[in-house]
Amino acid sequence: MEQTLVIIKPDGVKRKLTGRIIQRFEDKNLLIKEMYQGIVTEAVAKEHYAHLQDKPFFPDLIAYMTSGPVVFLLLEGTDVIALVRQLLGATNVLNAAAGTIRGDFASSTTENIVHASDSKESAEVEIQRFFSHL
Ligand code: UDP
Repeated sequence: MEQTLVIIKPDGVKRKLTGRIIQRFEDKNLLIKEMYQGIVTEAVAKEHYAHLQDKPFFPDLIAYMTSGPVVFLLLEGTDVIALVRQLLGATNVLNAAAGTIRGDFASSTTENIVHASDSKESAEVEIQRFFSHL
């Protein structure tokens, strides 16, 4: 059994796609264990994306992630980390296939609607980062 962390990013919330995104996870019969709306502070955004701090798009990414409310979800199930990543679609907007969340809703590689943990290691750290209050 695995757990993974999903963030509906500020553009997803602003564009009122929250319900449709959650529907994708429910359609796939994944279990939503916990969920809340909140914000990502600049300090936490920089920590969350520390692996990208040398990239030219880093300042834009931090500004975007802190630009409005987000929704945090904790999903649980067998192979849920990889299953959720499949539902999200590729990071590069040009590679995000139709039928995926990014493929269907995003037209930008930065403003790409959703985040999900990409490994067991990052899921553990990210769940601790955003669900430590539980
Ligand atoms: N990102 C970007 N430009 C890029 C690559 C990534 O703006 O060329 C942004 C995008 O919002 C992405 C986030 O940085 O979701 C984190 O990138 P990562 O490579 O970790 O991809 P992810 O795990 O989100 O698919």
